Amino acid sequence: MTDRRTQLADNLARVEERIADACAAVGRKRDEVTLIVVTKTYPASDVRLLAELGVRHVAENRDQDAAPKAAECADLPLTWHFVGQLQTNKVKSVVNYADVVHSIDRMRLVTALSTAAVRKGRGPGREIGCLIQVALDVETGDAGGRGGVGPDGVAALADALAEAEGLRPAGLMTVAPLAGPYAGRPRAAFERLREIATDLRAAHPAANMVSAGMSADLEDAVAAGATHVRVGTAVLGDRPGLG
Ligand SMILES: *Cc1c(COP(=O)(O)O)cnc(C)c1O
Repeated sequence: MTDRRTQLADNLARVEERIADACAAVGRKRDEVTLIVVTKTYPASDVRLLAELGVRHVAENRDQDAAPKAAECADLPLTWHFVGQLQTNKVKSVVNYADVVHSIDRMRLVTALSTAAVRKGRGPGREIGCLIQVALDVETGDAGGRGGVGPDGVAALADALAEAEGLRPAGLMTVAPLAGPYAGRPRAAFERLREIATDLRAAHPAANMVSAGMSADLEDAVAAGATHVRVGTAVLGDRPGLG
């Protein structure tokens, strides 16, 4: 059996090639796209191997798993992204390790995260980068259980992030929707996100991250202008059970 390090190295090389090909296909430079490896459900030992293999950005979606893993990996030169739905009772923990939060979708979360960030000493220059998660299966309001705010809710959240101490609006995130007009059309969904991102940058020029694309659809995301792709299974393997 191949050892884990070799397996991860091979998978990373394949993902790297996919990103490079996707960039080349639309005339983008490879360095315009950052790979975030989603390590959820996999152990800290994998995070360590990934860091040795040159990965610099990792993501988690559950605080219960992320907090101990990030603590075990505190010596590594990693940027930690939080990409899961975030409950306000978890923000105190999340600000301990998260450099970027991708799942801002309501005012109450902005307020709670800001308070926690300030308590943690995240003052000017050290703000937590916050991406607004856009739900493309709804036009207005929030997406119900799955997280995200409809496109019409983005501007107000961005303004609130800009005002909130300890936080800064950093851009947008989406997951290709399973329902609604974009179901099964990731490229169209990501093109819609690009439009919303252009509007956002008009008001907040520094909010220029576009986080879209996972193992199955990273090419569509790169073609539609994503700056960050979040890849789990294509690097780490199929996840056992939920996650
Ligand atoms: C799990 C997850 C990913 C990675 O998905 P894969 O299909 O494993 O690449 C990306 N984004 C979010 C928000 C996730 O929860």
